[in-house]
Amino acid sequence: MISKAFAAVAAGAVTVAASASIGVVPMPNKVVEKEGVFKCEGDWVAKIEYASDAAIPPEGYRLDVTPERISVWSSDDAGRFYAVQTLRQLGNPIQCVEIEDAPRFKWRGLLFDDGRHFFGKETLMKTLDAMAVHKLNTLHWVLTQDQGWRIEIKKYPELTRKGSVRAGSPKPVVLRTPQDVPEPNTHWVNNHIPYGPYFYTQDDIREIVAYAAARHITIIPEIELPGHSVAALSAYPWLGCTGEQFEPWCRWGVSEHIYCGGNDATIKFLEDVMDEVCELFPGPFIHIGGDEAPKTVWATCPKCQKRIADLGLKGEEGLQGWMTDHFTKYLAAKGKRAIGWDEVLDGDPGKDTIIMSWRGPQGGIKAASRGNDAVMCPIDPCYIDNPQGLEEDPYEYINYGFQATLERCYGFNPTAGVPESEHSHILGGQGNNWSEYTWSGSELEWKIWPRMSALAECLWTEPANKDWSGFKVRIAALRRRMIREMHINCAPLQ
Ligand SMILES: [Zn+2]
Repeated sequence: MISKAFAAVAAGAVTVAASASIGVVPMPNKVVEKEGVFKCEGDWVAKIEYASDAAIPPEGYRLDVTPERISVWSSDDAGRFYAVQTLRQLGNPIQCVEIEDAPRFKWRGLLFDDGRHFFGKETLMKTLDAMAVHKLNTLHWVLTQDQGWRIEIKKYPELTRKGSVRAGSPKPVVLRTPQDVPEPNTHWVNNHIPYGPYFYTQDDIREIVAYAAARHITIIPEIELPGHSVAALSAYPWLGCTGEQFEPWCRWGVSEHIYCGGNDATIKFLEDVMDEVCELFPGPFIHIGGDEAPKTVWATCPKCQKRIADLGLKGEEGLQGWMTDHFTKYLAAKGKRAIGWDEVLDGDPGKDTIIMSWRGPQGGIKAASRGNDAVMCPIDPCYIDNPQGLEEDPYEYINYGFQATLERCYGFNPTAGVPESEHSHILGGQGNNWSEYTWSGSELEWKIWPRMSALAECLWTEPANKDWSGFKVRIAALRRRMIREMHINCAPLQ
């Protein structure tokens, strides 16, 4: 039987004593230690006794460890799966214990950017394995960028034939202060080393989606529009406003050349791409980007200006708003919800668009106040391509003046600043590693872990049950296990 107290715990209404001696990350929300131990021998996981209990919240579980047996209750498969993740972290032998646990947020994510640098299937699957250990359930997969198109689209083969290869990459620069960031963007120095072709076939994607699903992780693809689209424009120049021939970018930054918002053929192209994307990704959400889309070229494009005039839109921002709404509705007809970066709020989107708040929490706070759902990933502290504050660190970072130390990540609270009556609009949060300065899989792992472990606890564990000093003890043990058993290049703790 599941107690009323459990439901209260899940709702965060009861303060419970989290036990520092339980070495689990993220910290379970209610732990009662008991006498005795259970010895893990043979195929002990196969002998776990499972039962259903509809009163347990989605993804939640209750488990009871006695010297004789392990019993698990849940209302869904994810809850069962997470109970096993908890058990595996309890060591051997397992201290007898009762745990009642459920996540604080339903969106517990990590952004994986294959656009700027490409990491491939092996790194991605290792990352999914490590996410599952942390009860993270959403991978936001960036597949299109100015610097590379990474997803095979059968109807438009040039996207990957031409768009997945670039002639070079920026030489690494040491960014110790924000002033070191080259501005304007043209100051990047090209290393002239060809990069690509790098992309995922549709078979690769089906395999990865299934691998993630087996770990209760939903993959949300990002097909960016209208900006960050130079790789697509290089494959099909008619997608842009000017028809110029571009090459996939060999530098970082923001391009003023974006998809033409006034050209019906461009809109049809994007619909065709979305058709194939929706077939490949069974999850309920598709990310349509919307950030960093300068309007300079739209301002002088006859097609864009005609659409603005014909529809009575409020200038170029209104045109982006029209595109956001168009694709939100297009995806809704296919049973999907569209997500956009917080810039899409400038175009006054409909209530169905989910807002991903990155420039700070303000976008998410505004979204919740106007009735839109939001995912919180403010640049401070959720951008884990920012420096992590280690004394010795062999890797490069973006540096816009933020330091995402482990402790700062641990302080993340997705509902900070959101009125309580609007908390239900905050779906959760995620950590983002944009890959301009992340050149390899092992470097990526160094940047993700253990900071993503801290963010995972912020997204799973009720604030009253979080404890920084206890976390440091628990993450030290999990970090050793990730290095030893999963061969993950975890950064040290500060
Ligand atoms: Zn145009």
